[in-house]
Amino acid sequence: MMIEFNEKKFDLKPTKIVAVAKNYRAHAAEMGGTAPEEPKFFLKPISAMIPHQGVVVLPKSSTRVDWEVELAVVIASRLTKAGPDEVMRNILGYTVTVDITARDIQNEAKKQGMPWTIAKGFDTFAPLGPVIIAPDKVNPNNLELWLKQNGVFRQRGNTRDMVHPVDKLLAYISGIMTLEPMDIIATGTPEGIGPMKNGDFIEAGIDGIGVLTFMVENEK
Ligand code: MG
Repeated sequence: MMIEFNEKKFDLKPTKIVAVAKNYRAHAAEMGGTAPEEPKFFLKPISAMIPHQGVVVLPKSSTRVDWEVELAVVIASRLTKAGPDEVMRNILGYTVTVDITARDIQNEAKKQGMPWTIAKGFDTFAPLGPVIIAPDKVNPNNLELWLKQNGVFRQRGNTRDMVHPVDKLLAYISGIMTLEPMDIIATGTPEGIGPMKNGDFIEAGIDGIGVLTFMVENEK
């Protein structure tokens, strides 16, 4: 997928998207739970990726598809069982993602003890962009992130409220699975999730990085 990086077009080809669940206490509370002691995460398929100014398609099989604005970390070089300092020396940059979620399907999966992939993995459910910002340009532990639906603020948060900050998150994940160059880690969403509908225009921003936009359409 093409994305801007160092003022050039860059072909972002990750081997996986790792998405972290319940990494902000206020979001965990709105989901009716508490934030986990250890990071919880799941995988999103690469086939779900769409670039900036794309179209998110609402599947016919879902009655409620939600936004979740998240800081996305892009890995620079292979990390296996890395410590927090090593992790921070091997980040290519940061971008914005929205972890699109078929909430009704996720709730059903939770009831059945099934993985969340079915709710998070539809085509178009991983918009990313508009740009990858180099790691020396931003402090990942103090970034305002927000989401607007048709010009109205729906989410507002700050990465300082993450339960598990970027360095510890990536160290934890690399202790389980090797992170490869260009792999993406979506670091969780703050409170204010909500449903999208056909025709919506969504803007998802992180101050110091950029504003990712997309349109929303029903599956035809
Ligand atoms: Mg999420």
